[in-house]
Amino acid sequence: MKSRNLADIYDKLLQELGPQEWWPADTPFEVVIGAILTQQTRWTNVEKAISDLKGHGLADPQNLANANPEKIEELVQCCGFYHQKAFRLRNIAQFFVDNPMDIVFALPMGELRELMLSLQGVGYETADSIILYAADRPKFVIDAYTTRMMKCIGIEGNYMQLQQLFEEQLPADVKMFKEYHALIVEYAKKYCGKKRCDACPLIQGVN
Ligand code: SF4
Repeated sequence: MKSRNLADIYDKLLQELGPQEWWPADTPFEVVIGAILTQQTRWTNVEKAISDLKGHGLADPQNLANANPEKIEELVQCCGFYHQKAFRLRNIAQFFVDNPMDIVFALPMGELRELMLSLQGVGYETADSIILYAADRPKFVIDAYTTRMMKCIGIEGNYMQLQQLFEEQLPADVKMFKEYHALIVEYAKKYCGKKRCDACPLIQGVN
């Protein structure tokens, strides 16, 4: 896998877009809810569902774990796959009732990641989003936008290879990891998603 200076790319993204201040949430458990709900849907749908869950007092592990499954389905319907997502939300809520969040989030990184990955519906991206944005621990999140953008600048690899490259090249700085991931997503929306490759400052600046 070819290596490029990822700190320089971070600077270019920050210069282009400014600070993003992710993840928008009032509590770590709201991040967990968002990380489950955001799978295969737009963030605007997630915002609506979280707002509705909060309105019903369900953005809390104990309340969500005890909630009527059909009520949860109704509240998260706007995010698609609502039956599956409602099930996963109750499941992860029960997990955090049984395993207090402050204890889980303080586990050694390898143990924490394995534990997150053992939960139903939690793959690499979801686990790492929870670790970075809810636990405030330095784990770089790779998503489809990251993979595409890296390919454009000559870096190819699978999830774990890309994550390893970011974590090797960058300081283990939680704030920077959060910001970098957010910048990639916002950049992808502004340029990649609108097929503005001809105007892509990232490519022009790097090549
Ligand atoms: S705008 Fe186009 S060239 Fe630039 S990173 Fe996105 S997909 Fe690649």
